[in-house]
Amino acid sequence: MSAHIRNFCIIAHIDHGKSTLADRLLEHTGTVTLRAMKSQLLDDLALERERGITIKARAVTMRFNRGGKDYELNLIDTPGHVDFHYEVSRSLACCEGVLLLVDAFQGVEAQTVANAYAAMEHNLKIIPVINKIDLMHARPDEVAEEMMNSLGTDPDECVRVSAKTGVGVDELLDAIIEHIPPPTGDPDAPLQAMVFDSNYDDFRGAITYIRVMNGTVRKGQKIRFLRAGSNHDVIELGRFAPARESCEELKAGQVGYLICNIKSLGDVHIGDTVGLASAQGTTPLPGYSRPKRMVYCGLFPSDGQDFTELRDALERLAINDPSFEFEPETSEALGFGFRCGFLGLLHMEIVQQRLENESDVDLVQTAPNVTYEIINKRGETVSIRKPQDVPDPGDIEEFRQPIVRCSVIVPNDYIGAIMKLCQERRGIQKSQEYLGAQRAMLTYDIPLAEVVYDLHDKIKSCTKGYGTLDYEMVGYEPADLVRMDIMVNGNRVDALSVVCHRADADRRGRAVAKKLKAEIERHMFEVAVQAAIGSRVIARETVPAMRKNVTAKCYGGDITRKRKLLQKQKEGKKRMKAIGNVEISQKAFMAVLSDS
Ligand code: GDP
Ligand code: MG
Repeated sequence: MSAHIRNFCIIAHIDHGKSTLADRLLEHTGTVTLRAMKSQLLDDLALERERGITIKARAVTMRFNRGGKDYELNLIDTPGHVDFHYEVSRSLACCEGVLLLVDAFQGVEAQTVANAYAAMEHNLKIIPVINKIDLMHARPDEVAEEMMNSLGTDPDECVRVSAKTGVGVDELLDAIIEHIPPPTGDPDAPLQAMVFDSNYDDFRGAITYIRVMNGTVRKGQKIRFLRAGSNHDVIELGRFAPARESCEELKAGQVGYLICNIKSLGDVHIGDTVGLASAQGTTPLPGYSRPKRMVYCGLFPSDGQDFTELRDALERLAINDPSFEFEPETSEALGFGFRCGFLGLLHMEIVQQRLENESDVDLVQTAPNVTYEIINKRGETVSIRKPQDVPDPGDIEEFRQPIVRCSVIVPNDYIGAIMKLCQERRGIQKSQEYLGAQRAMLTYDIPLAEVVYDLHDKIKSCTKGYGTLDYEMVGYEPADLVRMDIMVNGNRVDALSVVCHRADADRRGRAVAKKLKAEIERHMFEVAVQAAIGSRVIARETVPAMRKNVTAKCYGGDITRKRKLLQKQKEGKKRMKAIGNVEISQKAFMAVLSDS
């Protein structure tokens, strides 16, 4: 029945050629003619292209004849970055096989390993592919050996290709047909289809990507998202080949899309199961989880007037990206803004960049923080999304932080530098393996907060760019953490509170106090800037009282000049915030936040 279908993903480290290979497969199967070929068809968001990463999975159906038989190959694209592990795992759940693509010069990298392990967990057939064999410095034999050592793939099974020139791509198509098993599943059983992606079309609403595992879904049926519990009419269904092609039904084993008049992507949950509304008791497919926002930050318009504009921009973003969330937040220091949640640091950067590109609100961002857990004295577990919400030390029984398992792959020369770096970041070494004669993989458990702070940049800079990092969540563990506050004349400045390790609090507190002092203008009285943990002051700076009258230097007669000066002062005041009896310009907070 479905013997002619092959469902697969390409998994690779960033820049190893996934998009280029996808283009070549589309071309060699005749799905897209060379002339009509728009380079890198699968990465259709301008931003993805700009950053060279694929953010959301898409699927393309290729029809293709080999040895007198017609085949249907479904290529499911996967996001390539650490923040999107869950999305990758849902795409893999829709496949029977993967092409594990490795650059013939770069060799095995951190995301190669992470993705290969994920494919093994799903029991998928792995076809090892070595790409870029056209490069002058290609070292395909060594790379095949690295793959064998780190992933257990057979060097004889490696297909060698150049996605750039097309060499080896026909052989790869043969390998796909020969080695990836066709899907199983009963087209007459009750409908169960996995939602592995969605995107938003301004005219049609949500487009839901599905893989039918069992049963058949037809146009006009009423379907049900089994986990969300909502019912919808199937207005259109079909496939992308690569243009949208509607059809009457999708059967067990097939991959395609549904359009159901859904107005927000928030209503379509990746990993949910589509069943028929009429069929009672259909079980949802396993493996579903909700998006976990691990990193939060506050976003405030630098001019309070732009609040509604910022809210509209965030709403537009959230329609297209259900993993992003935001809620209003008020800060004494920064005014009205939003607390925003992201899957990880890269996700945060992507959202920020979209905001900048798509709206012209000038933004102030507070330092990103991870989600913490606190067990209070009453034994309740509280999830903390912003430092201000951490209770006073007396009410904390246990303070817990998220730990991630980091895999770093580096040339052997840099092993020492990476070990030092990971230890400084409170990492605990888990293993060290050699991938070949030249490279090693180090595994550490490190607090996510340390990773978020700057680990990736630091790894890149201490390995001249050769080190690669991947990480996955391990869980929450207790740690000696404190909320450090910044006080101005005894009043807490909410936007400047941070959570940090107790041993780092002194150093960080001193640095922030010093910086803020430099930004505060003199008042008629002395202003104390302090860093404190609970009621214990750990650093203090003093802004001395003003001595001179500002207008004094405008000797006597020049009244216009005096007026101008007063006018200027008044304007400056508009952007002033009062912290107790001390006036601080918004610019001062921005300066302190810009690199804390
Ligand atoms: P992705 O991040 O895995 O999607 O990688 P891309 O497909 O965007 O490729 C990354 C870079 O490698 C681009 O500059 C491609 O032109 C280049 N590239 C991809 N495949 C080959 C190849 O076979 N040979 C050579 N020389 N360059 C390639
Ligand atoms: Mg790509």
